[in-house]
Amino acid sequence: MKRPVVFLVLLVAAMAVFIVVQARSIPRRASPAASRADTTPTASAPSAPGAAPVAASADSTGLVSIRASAQPAPKRDLAEIQRRLADGERGTYIRELLLQRDDNNTRWPDRQAEPLRIWIQPSSTLADFHGSYPVRAREAFERWMRVGVPVAFTFVVDSASCDIPVTWVDKFEMPITGRTLWTRDQYWWIVGSSVEVALHHQSGAALDPLAIYVITLHEVGHVLGLDHTQDDRSIMAARVRVTDLSDVDEHTAQLIYSIPPGSVSKP
Ligand SMILES: [Zn+2]
Repeated sequence: MKRPVVFLVLLVAAMAVFIVVQARSIPRRASPAASRADTTPTASAPSAPGAAPVAASADSTGLVSIRASAQPAPKRDLAEIQRRLADGERGTYIRELLLQRDDNNTRWPDRQAEPLRIWIQPSSTLADFHGSYPVRAREAFERWMRVGVPVAFTFVVDSASCDIPVTWVDKFEMPITGRTLWTRDQYWWIVGSSVEVALHHQSGAALDPLAIYVITLHEVGHVLGLDHTQDDRSIMAARVRVTDLSDVDEHTAQLIYSIPPGSVSKP
């Protein structure tokens, strides 16, 4: 428990600093990282009973910090990148993602041979925590593993040795139900991430097992480098109204993993 908590605190601290720096240095045009760190919550009109989205998983977009890493520079061929984008972008929301990060693609390095180690907090004393929730969260990671991107997950019991901690929080002080922080390096490789999933809406109403699954599904999309789309049939809509990935989610993830990280408009 100790390590991930420290990790999160550091990451949040780093992020806070980063936001301040961004806010000062780029007054006019929102930088991709700054806009991703914008926590303006989606307007949360209370849904009519019966028509409620399953999870109402509005959240802020993924929060980003940057640190240098020892990852090798990606092999980049701009003409080839643009050809793959042109061939593959139909039926995806990749342009929405690129728009939010100044034309930069963001992804993990290939992690098939060495899967990302996920630690899901196995228990919690928070009200309304249920023993099945870690299983629901794990199923969400497993769902993404079937999409065919070169990132595999393995589940570890030791939080100290994980790449990605998944922890439970009672609720957020804004109308969101999940939050993902990630760190990218100088090449736009994603090099770290953590996920928090709420047990309650901001209002205090408890989330149910399906909502826990759906919220985690959405957050794992952020872990992989996806961001919000206007397409509300997709799991990456800011307010989630579906219970599974759409073809569009899958194709978008496949496309971002078919090209290297970094700019798609500059060499
Ligand atoms: Zn989100």
